[in-house]
Amino acid sequence: MSEFMKFDPNPIPFFKRVEDLTPELLASYEESSYTWQPGDEGCLRITKSSLGAHNFCPYQYKLNNIYQLPTVENEAMVKGSNVHAIVEYFWANVDEEYQNHGTPLETAKALLKEGNERQARKILHAVMPEPPEPYRYGEKVVIEKWFDWQWERFLVTKGVDWVAVGNEVSVHARINVNIHGEDIPVHLRGFIDTIFSDGEGGFILMELKTGKWNLRKAKNMREEMQFYRLALEEGQQAEYLPVSHWAWEFPNGTANGGIKSEWEIEKLGTRKTSYAPRSVMNNIRKLVLGHVTGIFEPEPFDKKCEWCDYLELCPAWGGTMGEEEE
Ligand code: SF4
Repeated sequence: MSEFMKFDPNPIPFFKRVEDLTPELLASYEESSYTWQPGDEGCLRITKSSLGAHNFCPYQYKLNNIYQLPTVENEAMVKGSNVHAIVEYFWANVDEEYQNHGTPLETAKALLKEGNERQARKILHAVMPEPPEPYRYGEKVVIEKWFDWQWERFLVTKGVDWVAVGNEVSVHARINVNIHGEDIPVHLRGFIDTIFSDGEGGFILMELKTGKWNLRKAKNMREEMQFYRLALEEGQQAEYLPVSHWAWEFPNGTANGGIKSEWEIEKLGTRKTSYAPRSVMNNIRKLVLGHVTGIFEPEPFDKKCEWCDYLELCPAWGGTMGEEEE
């Protein structure tokens, strides 16, 4: 029995919502699988997480996604889910009519205009419900820092283009990946935390992280955001195109030795961001190649292996799981 304190005030978890997909994308999604191998019907499913897992360690990916061995839920995961649930609820409700008093956003804008900042902040903050029992894993600190940043944006924008236009946006796309001259179909799948309007007809993809921040993470973040951009573009989700920027926020960036709380926004098409499309396609190609060849080598490194749920099964550490096949 789970002892974890979980709190999600949203009526339906985002991953259980009914989706408005084209028949082709729905069929592609339904026939896709993490365990696909050459000769199978259907196609390989790749998510941002499965791609990230393969980049992290191909062998860990194999045990988790192909053998589907469970991972152990931990406090960091629960904290992440609890924080994301509140952020999702906030954006879903901040511009919704409340007891015939207008929306919290309208009220806060009017108060700001009158110079009553304190009350405007209070009205917006009150959109976030408190859990029935106190948070246990540090969620409160993360949520308050996240809210402070939204409040600062509110003061700067005066509420214009401030609300997320996309909230836990589901993305699907079908692409072909060429391996040794053969096109292998792949279904891309993901959920984008939030999408904002840039005010000029473009869109900003935003990812919220509840872990630590350090400078090395920027490269990973660009690749995660590029995965979403690729899925939006290839899936032709026109309501969120063109993507003009991507951004990320780490309100709890000082946790576990991180250097600071950080949010960053980057314009696309600059030298800093232009390598990401090629890099993500290379990563996707490597993952598909793994399924074509059946090769998923362990990539041991003390600091990452100490967090791995499969350490005792891993051949790099004396285990034998899966070795019979290679
Ligand atoms: S223990 Fe290390 S090398 Fe082995 S599967 Fe886990 S992360 Fe990969």
